[in-house]
Amino acid sequence: MAELRRLPAPVTTVWDWQMHAACRETDAGVFFHPARERGPAAAARDAAAKRVCAVCPVIEECGLHALLVQEPYGVWGGLTAGERHDLLRAGPSALRRLAARTRTRPEECAPPMADFRASTTVNADAAALFAFLSDVRNLPRYFSRMTAARSGDGNEVHTEAETPDGTRVEGDAWFDVDRDARRIAWGSEGPGDYRGSLEVTDIGTGSGPGSQVTVWLHTTRVPDHDGTVQGGLDATVAAVRQLVEEHYPIT
Ligand code: SF4
Repeated sequence: MAELRRLPAPVTTVWDWQMHAACRETDAGVFFHPARERGPAAAARDAAAKRVCAVCPVIEECGLHALLVQEPYGVWGGLTAGERHDLLRAGPSALRRLAARTRTRPEECAPPMADFRASTTVNADAAALFAFLSDVRNLPRYFSRMTAARSGDGNEVHTEAETPDGTRVEGDAWFDVDRDARRIAWGSEGPGDYRGSLEVTDIGTGSGPGSQVTVWLHTTRVPDHDGTVQGGLDATVAAVRQLVEEHYPIT
């Protein structure tokens, strides 16, 4: 049991970090072990959870929370229950170091392009899924509102899309694929500073393949008062999940 007396007061700002958690759409089974799980299966599941934590913008807040309330189970802030136990045994200095890092997080530790973000989990092998998603020809299959895409010179890609009011727009963008990091990044010249990235994280465990797909988007053009941009990202990751799991199973 967590130490309830240590829980922060129910003030929104104290818990706000959870709104940005990379694991919000991840199956809790990745972070908490099933009964009697031991050995390689436990190590594989812990490693998968840590890979999600590694790209989480609130990893320090989460780890600090778990230490403060002495969460007895699960991976929190990239730390297993055993690792947290060891940190707590190291004494208050470990907690103070973690708290200080949380308060003084440098700019470069901020999440990439944090303006808009959406994430989902997919029952698919990460390498095969990334190969599918990074193929330019497949972009219209999952990018909301994109109707066509084809490669140009170098890292250029030409896209066609339909706006919410039905207007057809065409444009050129740069499109970089980092196969080692399983990350796609794209953007276009001109006003709006439009940039985005998509990352596939391997969260497969001993019981089967699994991937987390996270999409970030930055633009200064749209204040998104009506949620259009965030809605588009949510639709994109939902399309990835549906497309891959229902129509193009990748294992
Ligand atoms: S650090 Fe890990 S467990 Fe904590 S919120 Fe982020 S992804 Fe979830």
